Amino acid sequence: VRLTDQQRQFLEAVQKACTDLVPDEAARRTLTADDTLLNAQSAFDLLASRDLLGVSLPVEDGGLGRTFTEECLLLEETSRKGVPIMAYSTALTAAQSYLKWGDRAQRQTIVESIRSGHQESVTFTEPGAGSDLAAAITAARPDGDDWVIDGRKTWISFAHIASHLLVLARTSSEGTRHEGLSLFMVPASTPGVRVEPIHTMGAHMVNDVYFSEVRVPSSSVVGELGQAWGHLARGLAVERVIIAAMCAGASARALDQLTRHVKSRVQFGAPLSKKQAVRHRIADLATEIAVLRAYVYDLAARIDDGLEDTLNTEASMAKLKGSEVFKHTALECVQLMGGYGYGSEFGMEQQLRTAVATTIYGGANEVQREIIGRGLGL
Ligand SMILES: Cc1cc2nc3c(=O)[nH]c(=O)nc-3n(C[C@H](O)[C@H](O)[C@H](O)COP(=O)(O)OP(=O)(O)OC[C@H]3O[C@@H](n4cnc5c(N)ncnc54)[C@H](O)[C@@H]3O)c2cc1C
Repeated sequence: VRLTDQQRQFLEAVQKACTDLVPDEAARRTLTADDTLLNAQSAFDLLASRDLLGVSLPVEDGGLGRTFTEECLLLEETSRKGVPIMAYSTALTAAQSYLKWGDRAQRQTIVESIRSGHQESVTFTEPGAGSDLAAAITAARPDGDDWVIDGRKTWISFAHIASHLLVLARTSSEGTRHEGLSLFMVPASTPGVRVEPIHTMGAHMVNDVYFSEVRVPSSSVVGELGQAWGHLARGLAVERVIIAAMCAGASARALDQLTRHVKSRVQFGAPLSKKQAVRHRIADLATEIAVLRAYVYDLAARIDDGLEDTLNTEASMAKLKGSEVFKHTALECVQLMGGYGYGSEFGMEQQLRTAVATTIYGGANEVQREIIGRGLGL
């Protein structure tokens, strides 16, 4: 990846922070409480204190105003080193809607929150509205100068640690089902909001969120009332590139660990790395990751050129490829590490479980294929 001097300096600062936070595997395991935590507030605090969060968010709203390329460098590098700040990517995703459609006060609140190491949530999915988000029935009704929200959301990443929830709610039942949806910025501490963890095959990430007579002022509406569908259609490209950048870093992390393992693990009188069959599989993985990275940074450069609204198809390709590369890499690493891949102590099985989720969230990969198909005119 070709970087400017400024971007290279930024990357060095990120690498230094990663090394300070995670000097070795033992430190990483302590920070993540043995892979049971995806986020450590101390990691957010250190990155915030070094001005390394809110990288691509605009200066006028309180962000660092750097390039999206640098944002991807941060996402990739922290994933590669296993720095537990997974909620950062969710917060960045939430920020895209606020930045595009929010008013100045909303933008500044969210950017300040992210830059200082706090979390933000995207609160869209419902029990009856997953891939088919337009089926959402969580409703907001006007009451005086306020809106009152009732309903239930599910699979909401990091709602348990978020400062605000960006809630998709139905404000009108007239028109098509894509009409009458609106976005709200709801402080997570608002009375009537209840967050309950969902147990999964991975660490605690997702939650059910219940809204019972949740009253918010009219200034909480993000963007135009009833226009959420159109608002969301834009901005999703960035989310998918964010996921792809993380997947590139996470895949590289698994491969780094596998490479160390096969060099030191002796069977049949020689390290496993001396077996051609093993080497070739690792060469294939390294090649896949290199191609993924090149694509991520190509898209990042185009986002930096202001072309994000033209990247719908490509961003879906990046998300699809990134998550499939990550899942395949993690599965191969488990296999090639044998019992040491399967055992929890060595951390690879945890990476496989993390990888599986990336093929589902941010839009299931089958839905990404549909978007790509449409982009191809099919
Ligand atoms: C770990 C995790 C984190 C998440 N974080 C968030 C979050 O922060 N905020 C949020 O709002 N949501 C979040 N989600 C929800 C996520 O976006 C949905 O799970 C996803 O969109 C799929 O919806 P669903 O689970 O209801 O599956 P369904 O819509 O029921 O789909 C099930 C499966 O059917 C297939 N399928 C669905 N539609 C099609 C189609 N049109 N063509 C072909 N195949 C299809 C796919 O294989 C899909 O995986 C998260 C989910 C997970 C697992």
